[in-house]
Amino acid sequence: MSDATLPVWIAKAVILAGMAVMVAIRAPHGRRSRRIKVARSHKTPLETLLLVLAWVGFFVPLIWVVSSAFAFAEYQLRTGPLVAGAACLAAGLWLFFRSHADLGANWSLTLELREQHRLVTHGVYRAIRHPMYSALALYAVGQALVIPNWVAGFSNVTAFAVLLALRLGAEEKMMAEQFGDEYAAYSARTKRLVPGVW
Ligand code: SAH
Repeated sequence: MSDATLPVWIAKAVILAGMAVMVAIRAPHGRRSRRIKVARSHKTPLETLLLVLAWVGFFVPLIWVVSSAFAFAEYQLRTGPLVAGAACLAAGLWLFFRSHADLGANWSLTLELREQHRLVTHGVYRAIRHPMYSALALYAVGQALVIPNWVAGFSNVTAFAVLLALRLGAEEKMMAEQFGDEYAAYSARTKRLVPGVW
């Protein structure tokens, strides 16, 4: 594949399209979740901080698209990373869509258990326990490859890595407390983020 440099508007268009698709996938679930009562909240001050961090990671690429605020950190856009990144974004968005569909009314933005919460183990939850986080990781890596800017490109990967490191354990503990043996059995036959690996 040719590794010629490309105009940056192509990367901006890909990033903006990816963001639009992500918001469109999430929006109906956000609206519905506001109507379903929270039975038990595990939202600690740390969780609030992680959500703020996730928002920063989301908005920094948008600021890069619409302004020249990060011009000092720009480098040349090349075909190879652009194509690989777009593929990661597409795969991430597909998995993001599927995991929302499978989780249904059990989804929450933060660590919460809903009324009539059920343990989902089907669909993309069959092989891994956190497909939505795998999706977001793919999306973040996609952004890092597509955005030719050290600040905007790595903002989402950094924010999401911190979120993952600090949330995964707490989420599994919450699920284990709620679902007991059912969650233990589910954990025994699945991996966290990568099927068959981890
Ligand atoms: N970690 C999961 C879900 C992210 S949404 C993923 O990456 O796919 C976070 C919320 O989903 C948690 O607060 C919890 O209430 C809920 N949740 C997580 N795993 C679940 C499962 N297997 N079944 C039902 N609800 C789950």
